[in-house]
Amino acid sequence: MNAPLPTVFEISSPGRRGVEPPPIPATLPSLDACIPAAARRRQPVQLPEVGELDAIRHYTRLSQLNMGIDTHFYPLGSCTMKYNPRVNEVVAGLPGFKKVHPLAEEEELQGWLEVFYRLERILAEVSGLSHVTLQPAAGAHGELTALMMIKACHEEEEPGKRTAILVPDSAHGTNPSSCTMAGFKALEVKSGADGTVDLEDFRAKLSPEVAGMMITNPNTLGIFEARIAEISAALHKIGAFLYMDGANMNAILGLTRPGDFGVDIMHFNLHKTFSTPHGGGGPGAGPVACNPRLAPYLPVPRLEKAEVKEGGATRTLYRLNGNCPKSIGKVRSFFGQSGILLRALAYVAAHGPEDLRRVSEAAVLNANYIRARLKKEYHLPYETPSMHEVVFTAKHQKASEVRALDIAKRLIDLGFHPPTIYFPLVVAEALMIEPTETESRETLEAFCRAMLAIAEEARTDPEKLRKAPVKTPVKRLDEVRAVKTPILVCPCADGSS
Ligand SMILES: *Cc1c(COP(=O)(O)O)cnc(C)c1O
Repeated sequence: MNAPLPTVFEISSPGRRGVEPPPIPATLPSLDACIPAAARRRQPVQLPEVGELDAIRHYTRLSQLNMGIDTHFYPLGSCTMKYNPRVNEVVAGLPGFKKVHPLAEEEELQGWLEVFYRLERILAEVSGLSHVTLQPAAGAHGELTALMMIKACHEEEEPGKRTAILVPDSAHGTNPSSCTMAGFKALEVKSGADGTVDLEDFRAKLSPEVAGMMITNPNTLGIFEARIAEISAALHKIGAFLYMDGANMNAILGLTRPGDFGVDIMHFNLHKTFSTPHGGGGPGAGPVACNPRLAPYLPVPRLEKAEVKEGGATRTLYRLNGNCPKSIGKVRSFFGQSGILLRALAYVAAHGPEDLRRVSEAAVLNANYIRARLKKEYHLPYETPSMHEVVFTAKHQKASEVRALDIAKRLIDLGFHPPTIYFPLVVAEALMIEPTETESRETLEAFCRAMLAIAEEARTDPEKLRKAPVKTPVKRLDEVRAVKTPILVCPCADGSS
């Protein structure tokens, strides 16, 4: 594992072939005759020449160098990297779903529309909000959709007045970005010593220009915003909306409902709470749920269920209604990430309401197991109890000049994907750990032992941590250089690239 793996070009050998297709029969026109001269390559394409087995081994090895949820414990906080049940894939692969063309007539899409309708109703139920759109393709996209709806509503009632959205300083970076994208300015609200919104600072920031507030609950410190109902009432009093970033629903699903504690509109991340894959940055899904006041602004088309009489019988028909004059329009082609929406429904169907609550209870229990096991060695910036994730810092390791980054890199050598580090931004040297409910006690324990061993190494052999990882083909990257001057193509044998 130590020597860098050769690239596929380095194992290339001129003339070697994986598959040799049979020659084109003389009865058929030659390739040259089929392709006009002007469209032909002037130089042969630069491809590696390797045997089939060499190619298979090369790519299989590369795939094993990556840490993924199927191979390693993956405790990234603020991400909910949980197991993607295989039954979801079976359901999503059923030909009745897979082989339907998105442009098929409404009548032929009834099965799919029922899937969307049922998922919408489930999300409405667990959010305590009445209306849902499944269109947004990610959490951030859900944020933008919801802010556009809030804007459309205010613009209709009092044009040009409401220009600002309050955002706590612990928020995910997508929150202020979405504000800007939607044409608002983001006004920061401070966190208090307990890690929740500082109510005094919040009250001071309320003004007639405030359109609403974005709040994550539990917040990105893994702490439940216990005074959310109070915050909601204060916002409603000045005619502003409360938006909830629902990325952390894995902690409260079935235990409490945002609509019940005063939230007007929220997004879900199906790839966090409902077990659908994150898959290299996508495809995600960020459905938005809202109350009746904001519902007219939801994206089109709206999905409706109707009972129609046919002969003597009635049957259920799902319809797409594009006639919604106040709608912000479409935010995604067709119905959003259909395959992902179907997987989320399969997950809910496999669990049922009781089990969904147990998902959250287990997620919270697992995070608190880690909190209890590690708090002697790792500094906890907040005493407030943790929900589904726990934020530590590397403060105790500072004396040995060991940083959160070193701890994260050393975990790779010990066989664990690192947790999220240096986020939330309000915590210096943050180590943010989210185990999720899908891990066994043995796995949690093995991870805790690795973390405790690292704390011991920080005292006895800090240099080892600063040199980690030693077991990977690539050691520490110059991340800034990698971003600013990426090398995206392999230099070819002839010197061109
Ligand atoms: C993940 C996350 C987001 C963004 O969601 P994406 O689906 O990645 O766009 C927003 N807010 C919080 C708190 C998150 O954890």
